[in-house]
Amino acid sequence: MEQIFPEHWAFIFFGLIFSITCAQMLVVYVLSDSGNPPAGLGMYTVYFMAALLAWIALTLQQGASIPMAVDVPSVASILTSYILFMAAGQRAGVTRGRTVLGIICLIACLSVFFLPPPRMFVVQTSVAALFFAGVGLLCGWRGWRQRNIGDAIIAWAALTMVVGIPAALYQLSTAADLPKAQAIAFGVHSSAYALVAIGFLASVLIEYQQYLSHLATEDPLTRLLNRRGLESALYISLAHAARQGLPTAAIMVDIDHFKKVNDSFGHNTGDQVIRQVAEILRQTTRTSDVVARTGGEEYLLVLPATSLDAARTLAERIRLAIGERPLVVDHQRIPVTVSLGVAGAMGEVDLNKLSQEADRAMYLAKRGGRNRVASVENKPVHLSTAASRV
Ligand code: GH3
Ligand code: MG
Ligand code: MG
Repeated sequence: MEQIFPEHWAFIFFGLIFSITCAQMLVVYVLSDSGNPPAGLGMYTVYFMAALLAWIALTLQQGASIPMAVDVPSVASILTSYILFMAAGQRAGVTRGRTVLGIICLIACLSVFFLPPPRMFVVQTSVAALFFAGVGLLCGWRGWRQRNIGDAIIAWAALTMVVGIPAALYQLSTAADLPKAQAIAFGVHSSAYALVAIGFLASVLIEYQQYLSHLATEDPLTRLLNRRGLESALYISLAHAARQGLPTAAIMVDIDHFKKVNDSFGHNTGDQVIRQVAEILRQTTRTSDVVARTGGEEYLLVLPATSLDAARTLAERIRLAIGERPLVVDHQRIPVTVSLGVAGAMGEVDLNKLSQEADRAMYLAKRGGRNRVASVENKPVHLSTAASRV
């Protein structure tokens, strides 16, 4: 096996870092939808690119051993650590602390012109560790909140830095061995960089997977459930109703003459109307009720443990809440009314049948002149005996 010469290691290392960065950015860009890019994508890209430039500078410096006037690795590690802090902040939706740390970053970068190498090393590593501590907090918080292990990996990278840097500083203060301290700092930085690359890729993939699974059960316009989401949300309460013989009701809601709204105010305004009606439905129902958007301007409400009468009362309340005053979209007043159909069942429920009955009732409301509630009674037919007729 050929020996890897010491002067070649920097190039090999750079090649590795370059490949990791390119591969993960390629995956992220292929996955990301330009209309809805992952949060923080731009800033993370800047971080990876700035860090690559730093690796190039370091590699050239190692290979050519040109003494440079400015301590390029120090400035680069301060800058990239700060950019990473901003990227993590953008992804977590937190902007606090950026200005203060920005000023610290600027002062630390300028100090390379005035400080001798050992002192500069102390400043550079301490400032980078401070930024990484911020990154760790932001990513740890986001990872916990979004249940995203990718952010937790970035937080782990930050912890590596926060623990590793004092080890490097300790080496410098006890043994006064600057090259060894630099080697430790370099090693810690490299593993943190690789972990950030892996963590960011994992974070974007997990976010994308979460988005897809939401898409399967959620309507993107109103954030209500879709038909499939409705079925899975009702799974337990319908089983409970069947066991206990409880009533279940359904209300079908359809916006009246919605085509006219689109024609008069435009499709975007139409979308806002669909959203506002969804919001009213959410507000007028109980948390145990399940609200779904089942068609363009059509919603289905399923109300567990609710009698037909109670459902009719709720339907009337919804009709009034929507129709009593015009909706306001972009300062335009849009009069909107809805027609509602109510159906009920006792004990075991066939969701398809129940919603078809609510739909049938809704068409009765339409035929009756719109802006009204209709219901279908679904009682068993009572046949009197021949004797009772006498
Ligand atoms: P009716 O009172 O009989 O319900 O009349 P309508 O005009 O509301 O009924 P119809 O079902 O014929 O028309 C529904 C319209 O809703 C047609 C379609 O262009 C529009 N639509 C469906 N989905 C969307 C959507 O997501 N956004 C917008 N803006 N319009 C939609
Ligand atoms: Mg309609
Ligand atoms: Mg319709």
